Amino acid sequence: MSEPGFGVYVHWPFCAAKCPYCDFNSHVRHKGVDQGRYLAAFRREIAHMAALAPGRKVASVFFGGGTPSLMTPETVGGILDAIGAAWEVEPNAEITLEANPTSVEAERFRGYRAAGVNRVSLGVQALNAADLANLGRMHTVEEALAAVELAMSIFPRASFDLIYARPGQSPAAWRKELSQAIERAPEHLSLYQLTIEEGTPFHALYRAGKLKTPDEETSRALWDVTQETTERAGMPAYEISNHARPGAESRHNLVYWRYGEYAGVGPGAHGRLLVDDLRRELSTERNPELWAAAVEADGHGLVIDEPLSVEAQADEFLLMGLRLAEGIDLARFHRLSGRRLDPRRIDDLTMDGMVERVGRDRLRVTREGFPVLDAVVADLAG
Ligand code: SF4
Repeated sequence: MSEPGFGVYVHWPFCAAKCPYCDFNSHVRHKGVDQGRYLAAFRREIAHMAALAPGRKVASVFFGGGTPSLMTPETVGGILDAIGAAWEVEPNAEITLEANPTSVEAERFRGYRAAGVNRVSLGVQALNAADLANLGRMHTVEEALAAVELAMSIFPRASFDLIYARPGQSPAAWRKELSQAIERAPEHLSLYQLTIEEGTPFHALYRAGKLKTPDEETSRALWDVTQETTERAGMPAYEISNHARPGAESRHNLVYWRYGEYAGVGPGAHGRLLVDDLRRELSTERNPELWAAAVEADGHGLVIDEPLSVEAQADEFLLMGLRLAEGIDLARFHRLSGRRLDPRRIDDLTMDGMVERVGRDRLRVTREGFPVLDAVVADLAG
């Protein structure tokens, strides 16, 4: 299994409007955003992270959000220049930018490519008009498909996201929609089940009985359709929600799931850095204006920067690694935690068909186990 490498996550916290299901750190600023101010703050925070973790080789950069495709290509280019000044960037580094597929944003694609972005991840979310409207998305199906086509002509690599298990969605309708998506799909698809997060407008509707998500049986059928349809098309899940043709996996996300090292910059970004051989947890201030002011005053917006306990590292390693189809390296778990997973628990879960060993050294969750992944991880973590 290749080493995870070092990744840099850049969080752009602004969106044109707030989607009713979203609980990400995203903010709407009707008066506009001073991109010059934020670029200067990103530069300073990147330099701070490089001082904490000098000499790394950057294998991937990921612009997430929020809506990073609201950044100008100059802002993106300025941040990439700052990363290049702070660390050595591998010549074949994966540089991904999340984009919303409206026609306005598609106009910036060439600028992002010129700035160094070589992979886009498009938030398509649905390929039918009614569901796009219900999800509060600002693009049409036609715009999304045009953006996918344009992205594939400009960037060497592209991915798009869909949300399923939407209110009223049948397995047959999802099979048709997913097949259409795969026909258009570049090389990578992220397929997320709609979850109702507390504090969102969807949660209020759900509680009032005005929004119904599929029942357990339908959810399971939708999950099965997802796996069968993508496997048949040669895009199996390499992670619980991510599907790729062989070799087209997201290198950046593999850094997280393989429990690698990464710096997070921008409001509400998280990082895990090895400092003096200790793995540290880092998080920044979530509010954009407070973050910018903190960086201007102190050179960083960190609100958490502390070593992780051995137990916390062991839990994170299991939580992340067991999401992957390749599973976890049991010897690495031992090195990290100083203990071995309880063989009786492994045997019980194996008998139940939830996990399986791969050779002597690896353990992975089975297809039967993935729909109940949280319970499997909790059981193994003991
Ligand atoms: S575009 Fe993405 S980050 Fe922004 S509100 Fe919608 S789901 Fe949230």
